[in-house]
Amino acid sequence: MKNKEKRIETAMIHNHEKAEKYDGSLTTPIFQTSTFSFSSAAEGERRFAGEEEGFIYTRLGNPTVRTLEDRIATLEGGERGLAFASGMAAVSAVLIALTKAGDHVLCSNGLYGCTYGLLQMFEEKYSITHDFSYMETEEDVRAKITPDTRCIFIETPINPTMKIIDLAMVARVAKEYDIPVVVDNTFCTPYLQRPLDLGCDIVLHSATKYIGGHGDVIAGLVVGKKAFMDDLAMSQQKDIGGVLSPFDAWLLLRGLKTLHVRMDRHSINAHDLAKRLDNHPKVKQVYYPGMEGNDHFPIVQKQMKTGGGVLAFEIEGGKKEAQEFMDRLNLIQIAVSLGDAETLIQHPATMTHAVVPEEKRQEMGIGDTLIRLSAGLESVEDLWEDLEQALKEG
Ligand SMILES: *Cc1c(COP(=O)(O)O)cnc(C)c1O
Repeated sequence: MKNKEKRIETAMIHNHEKAEKYDGSLTTPIFQTSTFSFSSAAEGERRFAGEEEGFIYTRLGNPTVRTLEDRIATLEGGERGLAFASGMAAVSAVLIALTKAGDHVLCSNGLYGCTYGLLQMFEEKYSITHDFSYMETEEDVRAKITPDTRCIFIETPINPTMKIIDLAMVARVAKEYDIPVVVDNTFCTPYLQRPLDLGCDIVLHSATKYIGGHGDVIAGLVVGKKAFMDDLAMSQQKDIGGVLSPFDAWLLLRGLKTLHVRMDRHSINAHDLAKRLDNHPKVKQVYYPGMEGNDHFPIVQKQMKTGGGVLAFEIEGGKKEAQEFMDRLNLIQIAVSLGDAETLIQHPATMTHAVVPEEKRQEMGIGDTLIRLSAGLESVEDLWEDLEQALKEG
């Protein structure tokens, strides 16, 4: 299969492994080294001048990390990938690279809480302004583009309300204005959604979530065109320095091998729980885009393989009822993060989105009774029994 492009399930497991170089090791070795010695001073000079391929210093590149970067680039269908020390290191690197003082960023109406916090800081320190939009129509997108807009930054599904944005539509409009579209693909991974295929320009991940998949690593990934990614490597990685460690890259390579199997099961469990919650008298509203009847289901069918592993719901009552419900759970863990084998539940208004001012939170649809659940890999019957007993009391 050397010259043929592999299907995604195979490419997650077999790609860019040069086993013959490493005594036939089946898995990628961990190159736990900070620097690389040169065979001569002249070789060192050639490497620094960029005239010769080869490693210099781990902040500038490392074989274990490079294997991961090449693999994520293939999986997302992009030209070059880069690994960062966290999802936020990836988000901040991309936004710093695309903007300068006085620019404007257009965002989906709903963002990861720290991405929102970062944009607040940009506004205060560098007068880089931002606007939010649900981007439901082409007119919505056009209405918020200004002469200073340098980037459209999208999460879809939007965290935590699970609204969906039509990526091909936004990419079409952005092309007219020559504005790059950045997609935070954390909730989907390339197995469920490939934004670059839909015309977007840059895709990034908190690999802490589904790609790592086991709740034991903090990491970020970015994929895009070679020229932009080369610039990111030279400015954001070389000079700012939030790179991923070789060991953490190895954990992600290990996670990727089972990503498709896990995503299928996360999706089945989330869909099943969404349906059961939807039929429960104490549940006011369920937000799961992969469910028939959801407003965004037609876009999901167009751009995603499944609705993914995260859902949100609102229960009757207020903040007190929501917190008491969570406290009654036994199996399901109260924790932020998502994409782990364990089912996790959190309260966005007081946890992940607590930094967003109350008024803005309401506008984003994050009320006091909204609860987000990341479906794990457990038996769905055990998960439902736990949810049902917690809903019953109180
Ligand atoms: C978790 C998360 C991030 C931040 O990633 P870290 O790895 O925690 O730094 C960014 N975007 C989304 C959608 C996330 O869920």
